[in-house]
Amino acid sequence: MGGKDVVDRISVQPTRLPTAISTMSSKTEKIRLVGAGLNGPLLAILLRQRGFSVELYERRPDMRRVHMSAGRSINLALSTRGIYALHQAGLWRRMLSIIISMRGRMMHPVEGELTFQPYGKDETEVINSISRAELNIALLNAAEEQGAKVYFNQRCVGCDLRSGSLRIRKEETGEEITLDPAIVIGCDGSASALRTEMLRLNRFNFSQQYLDYGYKELTIPAGMNGTHLMERHALHIWPRGNYMLIALPNMDGTFACILFLPFEGANSFASLISQESIVSFFETNFPDVVPLMPNLLENYFANPTGSMVTIKCSPWHVEGQILLLGDSAHAIVPFFGQGINCGFEDCSVLVDLLDHHGADWSRIFAGFENERKINADAIADMAIENFIEMRDKVADARFLFRKKVELALEAKYPNVFVPKYAMVTFHRVPYSVALTRGLIQDGILAELCDSVHKIDDLDWSKADELIHRDLTPLELQP
Ligand SMILES: Cc1cc2nc3c(=O)[nH]c(=O)nc-3n(C[C@H](O)[C@H](O)[C@H](O)COP(=O)(O)OP(=O)(O)OC[C@H]3O[C@@H](n4cnc5c(N)ncnc54)[C@H](O)[C@@H]3O)c2cc1C
Repeated sequence: MGGKDVVDRISVQPTRLPTAISTMSSKTEKIRLVGAGLNGPLLAILLRQRGFSVELYERRPDMRRVHMSAGRSINLALSTRGIYALHQAGLWRRMLSIIISMRGRMMHPVEGELTFQPYGKDETEVINSISRAELNIALLNAAEEQGAKVYFNQRCVGCDLRSGSLRIRKEETGEEITLDPAIVIGCDGSASALRTEMLRLNRFNFSQQYLDYGYKELTIPAGMNGTHLMERHALHIWPRGNYMLIALPNMDGTFACILFLPFEGANSFASLISQESIVSFFETNFPDVVPLMPNLLENYFANPTGSMVTIKCSPWHVEGQILLLGDSAHAIVPFFGQGINCGFEDCSVLVDLLDHHGADWSRIFAGFENERKINADAIADMAIENFIEMRDKVADARFLFRKKVELALEAKYPNVFVPKYAMVTFHRVPYSVALTRGLIQDGILAELCDSVHKIDDLDWSKADELIHRDLTPLELQP
């Protein structure tokens, strides 16, 4: 089951010309995007397709011409929301050659057999491994093909928030320039310069919460002739209580791995500093990985230790002039695999509002924040919960039994009992609805599963009663 099957499941019309375009104030109006990471170029494409003049300012060099630095080679899990937005931009088909579908989690215990947990109810419900760098390059190429102008090595160092006049520093020369006023959208990630500027506004709310855990990229090289040394259609996971290792497949036969460890304490980045301690830690806790990672020490010392943060702020906009979107507005921890899926959904919602209202930016930006903030807050909270699930619960027999019961309930009550993971990953149910229904469903599962150990012993009449009492049918969009 590959990406093609997913294409067929999600029917988005190729980019249609927006009906409101004729009423837009000015199609030649300039829109400046700060940041050409993942959201910036996708948004640029969607705006160019609607006739706007778009410029992107990116502080880094062009990754297509300069060797990518360590710390940017992680893989992402793309799922329905991200795919929907890529369809909307007419880009999903070109992604098919750079994704590998992952049908479930392959669990690696310290000793014993591997076990496989499917992600979804059947083979259409998969997530897709994609290299961040390849996705970024594909988006940059498409943005330029559509006529967006991308300026590399140009860092936003400030902005007049009332006029939208950006201050830019050219990284190669140190020269600073001030650009003429424009509509500005901050796609500059979790350390957003634009958001920093907005911190000076009266009554701007801001919180950042770091995890006590960090992450480090490692690699499992390809086998002979570029073959994968483990099952390629799976996300591999070594859950070990308060730390874990995961591996996502790449097209070239390698696996991009991420080691998540506490910053401090036993078995932490602070304690694993000598070659001996690292090798011994891997031999004890991830014994099957050791022969697959000949470059373990080299990667461990060369790659930086990243931190993970949840950022919440409001407002996301300054009237109709400035807007924050993606991680700059709502950075989340990576454990639900939703950061970019949520960001791409932001892009989709923004241009839907544009199509609906025309270029009435005050209305669009306010509507955008109104629709997205509640949902970004919800996925931020679910991502933290999922951290505990991934590192701890996925190896627990009771948890696995509940997952089976969830699937059985979904089969019996389709569109009514939909597991939270599926609502978030395989549907476009608003995240806030997934969060609320997830809590209700947890209550139902607790009542049904507490004294039961086999699906056959489930009390189906009680299930019927609880589900009809607590849940209404969901409208599942394609
Ligand atoms: C370890 C890890 C694993 C993840 N896994 C997943 C996953 O499986 N699935 C998923 O959906 N998401 C995942 N994410 C989250 C995802 O990477 C982010 O949500 C996504 O990259 C956000 O996109 P963005 O465009 O908003 O920001 P970014 O991708 O961070 O891009 C911001 C861009 O702005 C540029 N920039 C920054 N400051 C300035 C400035 N002052 N001037 C000009 N340019 C600037 C940066 O150089 C960068 O290119 C993961 C994140 C991490 C850390």
